[in-house]
Amino acid sequence: MSNAPPLPTAGGQPRKPASQRIPVIAEPFVGDRARKMLDIVEKFVEEECIPADAVWAAQLGTGDGRWEGHPSILEDLKKRAKDLGIWNMFLPKNHYSNLSEYDPTNSAGAFTNLEYGLMCELLGRSRTAAEATNCAAPDTGNMEVIARYGTAEQKKQWLTPLLAGQIRSGFLMTEPDKASSDGSNISLNIRKEGNELVLNGSKWWSSGAGDDRCKIYIVMGRDNDADDSVDRYKRQSMVLVPSDAKGLTVHRMLSVYGYDDAPHGHGHITFNNVRVPASSVILGHGRGNEIMQGRLGPGRIHHAMRSIGAAEVALEWMIARLNDERKVPFGKPLREHGVLIDWVARSRLEIDAAKLVVLNASVKIDSGDAKAALVEIAESKILTPNMALAVIDRAVQAHGAMGVCQDTPLASSWAHLRTLRIADGPDEVHLNQLGRRENRARAQECIDRIQQQKKRAAELMKQYGVQEKQLGGSKVSGFPAQSKL
Ligand SMILES: Cc1cc2nc3c(=O)[nH]c(=O)nc-3n(C[C@H](O)[C@H](O)[C@H](O)COP(=O)(O)OP(=O)(O)OC[C@H]3O[C@@H](n4cnc5c(N)ncnc54)[C@H](O)[C@@H]3O)c2cc1C
Repeated sequence: MSNAPPLPTAGGQPRKPASQRIPVIAEPFVGDRARKMLDIVEKFVEEECIPADAVWAAQLGTGDGRWEGHPSILEDLKKRAKDLGIWNMFLPKNHYSNLSEYDPTNSAGAFTNLEYGLMCELLGRSRTAAEATNCAAPDTGNMEVIARYGTAEQKKQWLTPLLAGQIRSGFLMTEPDKASSDGSNISLNIRKEGNELVLNGSKWWSSGAGDDRCKIYIVMGRDNDADDSVDRYKRQSMVLVPSDAKGLTVHRMLSVYGYDDAPHGHGHITFNNVRVPASSVILGHGRGNEIMQGRLGPGRIHHAMRSIGAAEVALEWMIARLNDERKVPFGKPLREHGVLIDWVARSRLEIDAAKLVVLNASVKIDSGDAKAALVEIAESKILTPNMALAVIDRAVQAHGAMGVCQDTPLASSWAHLRTLRIADGPDEVHLNQLGRRENRARAQECIDRIQQQKKRAAELMKQYGVQEKQLGGSKVSGFPAQSKL
């Protein structure tokens, strides 16, 4: 028999559907089609994907078997998502011409970044949902690159099977011997030889390389003929390289806090005289950094909204634990220990605040382009993983030892979220850019504004015949009334 007091209740009301929980500030930007889609996505995630997550993990099995084949339940979820019409929501159809020619499913989303962002929040609640709807990284960013910059031939060969969910892809930028958060450091050598490009070098953290469905890599390297006289951000190119190209070896898979992330994985790869047709370059030589900027902008918003979804899940687990009538330490359920209810409040507050920042960035992208929203995108990129980590950490703590093991999604969610403070540009790079930009734009303005206000205050003092009061009485002398700014 439990000795806990009865659960507090709000009258047993079920939660309203997603279309009725859109933050008021975002309401005017969400169309009817997106609202309907949000509810279908939510039902699919809650009722089909989240329960399937455990089956997916069990089907992966243990040992080397984890890299062979892939859980059949995911293929079933993909079929189901296609039937429901929730497939490829990430791709804003109207941004790309003639896409239907390459899209056998004719399903490209045509949603705004804000609308799709709200869907990402729902997808971020489950391990399988993003892939089940063909909205998983790095495929989404790669498909956007090929759709936006690829030739007709590149689209036919790679975009078509990617949009159909038949194959997967990798994005290979980071190198073991270079500080790769700076795209101008990337040095895998790309040499032209007749009608071919010859690639030599190594890459690591190549996400997706463990999956045998991963058939194509977008590889960033430095053109052999781009010497130091070339602008440092015009030395790199991006090239499409089939994953089974001769001379390409996946040596090992890297773990993330002990998780192997199978069957996707993060590979360490070498390129030894890998040859591809010269036509495999995307957009043109020297345009790699330009493509990278286009690829990462809106993608960061989608990552941020998935992080918010993960934080919401952690808060739900925390609330469930606080109200678990079997767990009554020191004579009171956890919800009646003040500090834990404080964690619930802080978590709610931080999630909602972060969501407003990301939705604001989405509106800015939608009303201009990613370049116009650089500041807002950086704010979202920095804020959300840090916020989600704090919320998950509280949820872990509320669970005691159970929080760090496999019996809740919290431990693996924390490990995954922690990497987002590094991947797609470490926090410090974005903070540095944000801080410099704010300082540069406002230095003179801030000095002028404060000086003018002080001047006006002195005039008003005179007008009203008063003098500034000195703290500690009037005996202090030798100091100016106000320090010079
Ligand atoms: C799980 C996971 C998946 C990944 N997937 C991919 C992938 O699919 N493809 C891919 O190409 N890469 C991938 N990465 C790699 C990731 O994008 C890089 O790790 C990231 O860009 C940082 O590069 P780096 O590791 O070379 O660190 P470095 O560039 O060496 O930076 C190291 C640290 O230096 C500091 N620093 C750097 N610049 C500044 C600055 N301007 N001001 C202040 N401090 C600074 C930061 O603290 C930074 O964390 C993945 C990483 C992880 C963890």
